[in-house]
Amino acid sequence: MSRRHHPTFVPTDGDHALAAALGPKAAWLPTDDGVWAVSGPLWPTPAFALMQAVWDYDPRQAHARLRRRIRTSAPVTPLDHAAAQVAAKRVAYVPPGQGTPPPVVDLTSVARTAAGRWSEALVPASSRLDDPTRLDGWLDAPVGPLATRDRPLLAAVVDADGAVLLAARNTAGTNRTRHAEVNLVAAWAARTGGPLPPGARVVCTLRPCRMCAAMLLHGHAGGLDVVFLHDDPGRLAQGTALDGIARRHPPPGGPG
Ligand SMILES: [Zn+2]
Repeated sequence: MSRRHHPTFVPTDGDHALAAALGPKAAWLPTDDGVWAVSGPLWPTPAFALMQAVWDYDPRQAHARLRRRIRTSAPVTPLDHAAAQVAAKRVAYVPPGQGTPPPVVDLTSVARTAAGRWSEALVPASSRLDDPTRLDGWLDAPVGPLATRDRPLLAAVVDADGAVLLAARNTAGTNRTRHAEVNLVAAWAARTGGPLPPGARVVCTLRPCRMCAAMLLHGHAGGLDVVFLHDDPGRLAQGTALDGIARRHPPPGGPG
């Protein structure tokens, strides 16, 4: 049994004032260097955009800074909670209120630039992926200068006929939000302005973690099918929003 206790979060007057001042599509983080904030509209959510921006803005200190709770004036989504477990710590909704807001460091432009960096994660893919196991072979393909801290993991979206629509790699070496599945959904949204197409199959190197599971569910239009090649025994890959949907290929213990 966990003996850690998180006291109930009580927003300060400054938090309520920030929610009022920044509007209903904002997120902010108290840091030793002031309050860092973004305000929307931001894809996919203000809280997620803030996490991604903090990792881009200050990769060395991001982990320590993100131990503080992220505050957001937008509804907290399942994606926000799952992403916080992987790339931050906690996130809470703050309603607007009276008061004088503290000054903020505006990271909105950092967040918008960060959201555009999906292009660095795209991989030249074969035109077809009828056999999901062939995804592993793509890791040998030339994909540009690899950050050495990026684990070689891929995610691809395939249509019902096996044609590859888009493929992205993990670029989380310096930004913990940039798992392959997140990059894939971000790239798809940036290119098409919409979610993954109905009936799309997503093929991943590794069992999607909680953040990626929530991102795939957040960013699809129905009938999502997820196949992964290798299990991830890590804590953050258990009990995800894709339990009962994502399945291993080939099935464990099965032929081939
Ligand atoms: Zn992930």
